[in-house]
Amino acid sequence: MQIRALAGTLLLAAILSACGGQPGDDGGAADLLLVNGRVYTLTWGDPAGDGSLKPDAPYDDNGWSPDASAIAVRNGRIVFVGNTRDTHGYRGVSTRVVDLAGATVIPGLVDSHTHVFGLGAALDQVDLVDVDTEEEAVARVAERAQSVPKGSWIVGRGWDEGAWANRYPDKALLSEAVPDHPVFLASLHSFAGWANQMALDVAGITAETEAPVGGEIRRGADGEPNGLFLNRAVPLISDAVPPPPRETVARQVIAALEQMAKDGYVTVHEAGLNAGEMDILEELEASDRLPIRVYAMLSLRDEDLVRKWIARGPDQDTDSMLVTRAVKAFYDGALGSRGARLLYDYADRPGHRGVSGDDYGFNEALTEEAMRKGFQVAVHAIGDAGNRESLDILERIFTRHPPTAMNRHRIEHAQVVHPDDIPRFGELGVIASMEPPHAMEDKAWAEARLGPERILGAYAWRSLREHGSPLTFNSDNPGSDHDIFYGLHSAITREDKQHEPEGGWFAEQAVNADEAIRAYTSWSAYAAFREDKTGILAPGRWADITVIDIDPFVLAEQDPGSILDGRVLMTVVGGKVVYERD
Ligand SMILES: [Zn+2]
Repeated sequence: MQIRALAGTLLLAAILSACGGQPGDDGGAADLLLVNGRVYTLTWGDPAGDGSLKPDAPYDDNGWSPDASAIAVRNGRIVFVGNTRDTHGYRGVSTRVVDLAGATVIPGLVDSHTHVFGLGAALDQVDLVDVDTEEEAVARVAERAQSVPKGSWIVGRGWDEGAWANRYPDKALLSEAVPDHPVFLASLHSFAGWANQMALDVAGITAETEAPVGGEIRRGADGEPNGLFLNRAVPLISDAVPPPPRETVARQVIAALEQMAKDGYVTVHEAGLNAGEMDILEELEASDRLPIRVYAMLSLRDEDLVRKWIARGPDQDTDSMLVTRAVKAFYDGALGSRGARLLYDYADRPGHRGVSGDDYGFNEALTEEAMRKGFQVAVHAIGDAGNRESLDILERIFTRHPPTAMNRHRIEHAQVVHPDDIPRFGELGVIASMEPPHAMEDKAWAEARLGPERILGAYAWRSLREHGSPLTFNSDNPGSDHDIFYGLHSAITREDKQHEPEGGWFAEQAVNADEAIRAYTSWSAYAAFREDKTGILAPGRWADITVIDIDPFVLAEQDPGSILDGRVLMTVVGGKVVYERD
């Protein structure tokens, strides 16, 4: 323990002197000084693929211990990380000193796959998350209808298309309870939509309406649409909802980003923006109104927008709050609604393998063009066929244009991967971008869809790491709860919020605290080409910092269930305190 502690001190000293961050030697007072914290800098080496820790990790026979207690910040950057007793040189008349009283400090959290416009809209909509029955959902809509003028749309979201897949709702009860408002209720992951009769009438959807390729309009015995839409048919009804005015959308997205700040996040990677949304983000950035950083992925479904950016080229790496250098491709559907493309039939629907590629609107030529221009591509792929075909496409493009292989492409979700394809992520340098909460939310039905063998390659965080895949964790909100303590708890325990199942669901795929926290910080920095600017707490880095009231390193070993009780105390972005509890 002594030797290791000394080695840690020497390493820290080496880092400090390398960056000119010795106390008092480079310009005096800090703007912000955090003292008496349990600071985990993540400046030690990444754990190996099997999770074993590097010798320089601050870990010994007694478990984890923090490797610093104080951080000084000046002009948006960290200028000192070390011991509280060495901070005198940073205390000036205008320095704000915060006594953390033993709270835990980690590098600022990144949610590397979000939909903050969806989150903002969700904050305004009828909330159907965690609603168990059709009756309860209808009751909530009926209650909202009392305060909305007749004829105006009511939009809700969050009923779980995975959990409800064997008893999908239809328009009957909803139309009876809410006859005078058009109603559209998006499912949790947006792969299903539920409407009442008035919405069908307004949208002009009749028995004659045909579903697009890759979509399904459910019908009653009379051949009439029954109000339930799946996969690519959902836009038939969702597009009929008039778009909110731009000011409303801007207000919603600011509210969503403020919510993320409150929940400890310093950055979101926004997974699929259209021109209107980019426009709003650019305006918010120009007027200095983005509370946290946004790493933008342009939606390849908005071809005009992508072409505009192909002509212009990806943003150069800057300190700007909005950086655009990625595009988002959509390769297949979701597992819950049986849209994910599988190599063999769904275990619970013989003859059905989901939809993918051209049938799902994937544009390979445009993807290749963006890659050649230097954009990172993030491909949504969920089924084992979806993942294999996405890797095949990337590999083909790498072969044709070798420089494109350098751009850290990502597969979003990488949810079900055939054993043969797991090593290909590492070999091709493709980042697996995954959601620990999805494993917990899908476990009720995922094995039914996949059967006992394919499930072993699902949500397979450990297998991917063991085979050398870079990893980044995220929530895919608003489809899943982005609460970091829920994310860490899912990643470390493979148990849900009710602590089920005891011992974890396919617990061999769990990761440890070092890996889980890195997947939300330093590894997410890598996924955005920012590992030299952020991701760890060290002099010279952006002052992006999250303070929490639990120590997840210690709890992961001693009492993992109580990670769920953690709370965010402070969020700092570029040296600015953007959230502070109380
Ligand atoms: Zn998403």
